[in-house]
Amino acid sequence: MKSEKLAIDGGERAIRSELPKMYPGGMRIGSEEESAVIEVLRSKRLYRFYGPHLGPSKVDEFEAAFAGVMGSKYALAVSSGSAALMCGLAALGVGPGDEVVIPAYTWIATAEAVMAVGGVPVFAEVDDSLMVDPLDVEKKITPATKAIIPVHMRGLPCPMDRLVNTARRHGIKVLEDVAQADGGSYKGKHLGTWGDIGAFSFQFNKIITAGEGGAVITDDFDLYKRAMMYHDVGGGRRLKIPQEEILPGINVRMTEMQGAILSVQLTRLESLLADMRRNKRVLMNAVSESAEHCGAILTPCHDPEGDASVALIFMLPTSEMARKTASALKAEGAPASVLFDPAVVDYHVYYHWAPVINQRVWSEKGGPWRWNPNEVTYSQDMCPRTLSYLGRAVQVDVSPDLTDENLEELADAIQKVLSQVN
Ligand SMILES: *Cc1c(COP(=O)(O)O)cnc(C)c1O
Repeated sequence: MKSEKLAIDGGERAIRSELPKMYPGGMRIGSEEESAVIEVLRSKRLYRFYGPHLGPSKVDEFEAAFAGVMGSKYALAVSSGSAALMCGLAALGVGPGDEVVIPAYTWIATAEAVMAVGGVPVFAEVDDSLMVDPLDVEKKITPATKAIIPVHMRGLPCPMDRLVNTARRHGIKVLEDVAQADGGSYKGKHLGTWGDIGAFSFQFNKIITAGEGGAVITDDFDLYKRAMMYHDVGGGRRLKIPQEEILPGINVRMTEMQGAILSVQLTRLESLLADMRRNKRVLMNAVSESAEHCGAILTPCHDPEGDASVALIFMLPTSEMARKTASALKAEGAPASVLFDPAVVDYHVYYHWAPVINQRVWSEKGGPWRWNPNEVTYSQDMCPRTLSYLGRAVQVDVSPDLTDENLEELADAIQKVLSQVN
């Protein structure tokens, strides 16, 4: 097997079966989601706060269940992960010119949510774990910094104790971006519960999904109240907040259909995680066994037990080898990619965030930076360590629905490629 001709050189593909698509919760949508949606439609109550019949709404039910699973006091369901980040930032009081430290490796939505509330994103490098480096976060903190957003990329936990410590020492807030890591944990505590607020996304690519959706969790009633007011222009009155204290909001409420679907999806979370974790372990072994030849190393994880396990990521000695490896794996039929390639636009890496690094805004008068005392500017080469790590990193999707046959073929493909790449 291992010395067989690579598919990229005209050999036979190692993967002959069709692999399941990487939409973890999405691919498991079944009759339970169907009946939940039909129930909502038949009730004609599509709106969470009222309709032809009253009683508990599907969104209320989802919020209670989500807070229960995560172990937080409050959960607020919203229309997207971006909306969750914006509600979290508004709740923390982030406004014009305030700096928010975010990783240079995250989905662009993290940066744009900061800009949307008037904040100035400041990028920190990731380390070899590909999570934000607490030491670089510390270096990026200035008197204008209001918050940091650790992002648990690809299901992997950030070192939350160190990050929270750093933030506390500087008197700034922590908003966790858990969009890619529902159900993951760090040192036995769910991601999203370490910081002041956790923000989740249920967009179709995420672990559980309603196509679109998001949630904010917190233990702090005051932050919950502020997020509630921001997410719903009538939220203040609904919470019976005195008229003199109500703040303006935007409408990013979740629909009853989304709430109904997500309540079902949430019951699938545990088995989704168990299946992805099992599959990832098999694939990790395949990398370890062939690592010696090419010098590939699995990226270190701050808490392997807490890894939601949506991706297998390993690092090659050079970016050229990483690109060759990813191309060869793709030719074998594997869902592989290199995490950074300057020639391929990918909004997960700050280097490609044209609208952000060029400080493009909607108003001719300028945007958040005009209120910032530090004259923050950006360039494509400002986080070289991040680019160097991501350029050498190869990712393989870990679907929960891989069969034993799929896994065997995928493991063969990895070993076949890694034993020949140079
Ligand atoms: C998906 C994602 C978001 C945004 O979520 P949407 O629901 O698409 O708005 C934010 N941060 C990260 C890390 C994401 O992966």
